[in-house]
Amino acid sequence: MIPLKFDYEVAESVDHAVQLLGQHGEEAKLLAGGHSLLPIMKLRLAAPAVLVDIGRLGDLSYVRDAGDHIAIGALTRHADVEHSDLLREQCGLLAYTASLVGDPQVRHRGTIGGSVAHGDPASDLPSVLLALDADFVVRGSGGERTVAARDFFQDYLQTALAPDEVLTEIRVPKLGPNAGWSYQKFNRRAQDWAVVGVAAVVERQNGSISSARIGLTNMGSTPLRASAVESALSGADASSVAEAAQSAAEGTSPASDVAASDEFRRHLARVLTRRALEEALSR
Ligand SMILES: Cc1cc2nc3c(=O)[nH]c(=O)nc-3n(C[C@H](O)[C@H](O)[C@H](O)COP(=O)(O)OP(=O)(O)OC[C@H]3O[C@@H](n4cnc5c(N)ncnc54)[C@H](O)[C@@H]3O)c2cc1C
Repeated sequence: MIPLKFDYEVAESVDHAVQLLGQHGEEAKLLAGGHSLLPIMKLRLAAPAVLVDIGRLGDLSYVRDAGDHIAIGALTRHADVEHSDLLREQCGLLAYTASLVGDPQVRHRGTIGGSVAHGDPASDLPSVLLALDADFVVRGSGGERTVAARDFFQDYLQTALAPDEVLTEIRVPKLGPNAGWSYQKFNRRAQDWAVVGVAAVVERQNGSISSARIGLTNMGSTPLRASAVESALSGADASSVAEAAQSAAEGTSPASDVAASDEFRRHLARVLTRRALEEALSR
């Protein structure tokens, strides 16, 4: 399929992108790696009148140690997240999950910022960033603001980004020596989207679980936290994991589609949450 006709502008800087977005209003869309936007344009599910290409803004591609957190430029490709030594050392969950996105071609074009801004509940990185309690830095005509991942994903493909805002940076915490993590992705073929995915970050203190943060992929219209499991595990010990994981589908509303029924997705959420917690506790 061929997309509908559109105009094309190249942004020379973030400020220029903001200016172009302001000029064209809701008719305009940013183009980063194009690996989510172009497929939906080809399917005619999106028909922006103007594409503002930010793909050449090299200064938005970086992974930096920023003291208490790691700062990742929005245009950093999945492959660079996957291979970052800093992320592997300090936030292995994110580097590992990036290695599971699509295939090598997708990982060399797609960007972390595009994945976040697209807000697809079936994408792997948004639920992982939710479990990590990441922050997102966005810039628009009103200046810069920081939005917590918890407040960012609002509905299906809907985020807290205003039409004239550019996501510039993703901030993730360094996972200390007491933190274990896991991402369990259930898909039919290695390069497929997740039927369901579960991210877990578990902090331990004196033999018990001081906190567990669990993100769910493809279990509703947005990436979700498994709050009931998190509450059940606060202050608990490892023997409580299997029972707590039984609540993983509470408060979710998964779709039924060709890949799985809603009932099977709920079953997967429970099984994958148990596996994710067990793996996180074994690290
Ligand atoms: C065959 C295939 C398989 C895939 N498999 C997976 C998978 O297994 N797991 C997975 O998670 N993803 C998968 N993806 C999606 C892939 O990860 C995309 O790269 C990613 O979701 C979007 O990143 P992008 O840079 O390509 O964004 P684009 O497609 O360029 O943009 C996506 C949306 O975000 C907006 N946007 C982009 N950047 C910004 C920004 N900095 N600020 C504000 N808005 C912005 C755009 O306007 C657009 O609305 C797959 C894609 C394909 C084509």
